[in-house]
Amino acid sequence: MIGALLDKLLRWFIPQAPTPQIYTPAPPHPANVPGTFYVEDGCCISCGVWEDVAPDLLAWLPDGSYSHCYVARQPEMDEELTRMIDAMHVGEVDCIRARNCRADWAERLRAEGLGHQIDPD
Ligand code: SF4
Repeated sequence: MIGALLDKLLRWFIPQAPTPQIYTPAPPHPANVPGTFYVEDGCCISCGVWEDVAPDLLAWLPDGSYSHCYVARQPEMDEELTRMIDAMHVGEVDCIRARNCRADWAERLRAEGLGHQIDPD
């Protein structure tokens, strides 16, 4: 009790550093194939820019609405990983993410400035 009161008083008198905001991604869209890369569910603004760099890895939902893309195939070769990284760079709202990432891929994503799009373990 006294400890909690003392803690409140200290917080009143001693300015606190702002708590860093940790982004919690939405769950993967159910259309994503299993694997490291995924598109968050419900985040789409239909940018479609991935079509120029990774049309074989991402796809529009098959309903013809162009309302959401998803990861249709996981990269296997280094060249495909490069294009998935390109898609992550150009995607408008950082909605292409990585999870359970291989250490060397995570290192590469961080080197590309995409560390914020890797899910925490
Ligand atoms: S990259 Fe994101 S915003 Fe662009 S089409 Fe795919 S889900 Fe939509």
